[in-house]
Amino acid sequence: MIAAFAFLSPPEPSEPAVSVFPLPERYASNYGNDWGAARIQGEHEGTDIFAPAGTAIRSITAGTVSRAWGSSGDGWNNLGGYTVMIEASEDVGKIKRGDRLYYAHMDAPTKLEPGDTVEAGDKIGTVGDTGQGPPGTRGEFEPHLHLGWYEGWSFFGEDRTSAINGAMNPYPMLKRVERESESDRGKSGA
Ligand SMILES: [Zn+2]
Repeated sequence: MIAAFAFLSPPEPSEPAVSVFPLPERYASNYGNDWGAARIQGEHEGTDIFAPAGTAIRSITAGTVSRAWGSSGDGWNNLGGYTVMIEASEDVGKIKRGDRLYYAHMDAPTKLEPGDTVEAGDKIGTVGDTGQGPPGTRGEFEPHLHLGWYEGWSFFGEDRTSAINGAMNPYPMLKRVERESESDRGKSGA
């Protein structure tokens, strides 16, 4: 059965939403709960996943591409380097429709344009070491994916974050995405 990578396929319209770990499985052990850790710019607002420069980054969810706050036309901002933001288009696991996933320090600008739609598992860029300086700065730290997770729409009765900008800790969300990717592989018989 050639279904080992079925979990990377876009979902059929009738199927439940899927989520995909943003880096190849072999890097799934290369992160920890570093939320709030001390950083140059203040408390760390995300999860860092370490992988070599050039490693493909895949969208965790289906969604729509946008520019992150403070980013220029090519997605550069001086903290995150080359970045892309994806607004989730459906609920999946801990992620709710409207949440924004922020992928930073990419090796090069994303080829996606604001308004483009992606499926879970689509390539959105590559791991790099850009950022923490003016446009073009790289090499200030080891290559990694910085993943941020921001609440999009608020609903009455919801209390997922107290941060004004909607920031949430991606670590438990990523752990769940990782588990569900594994169980999808199990179901495929791989
Ligand atoms: Zn980070």
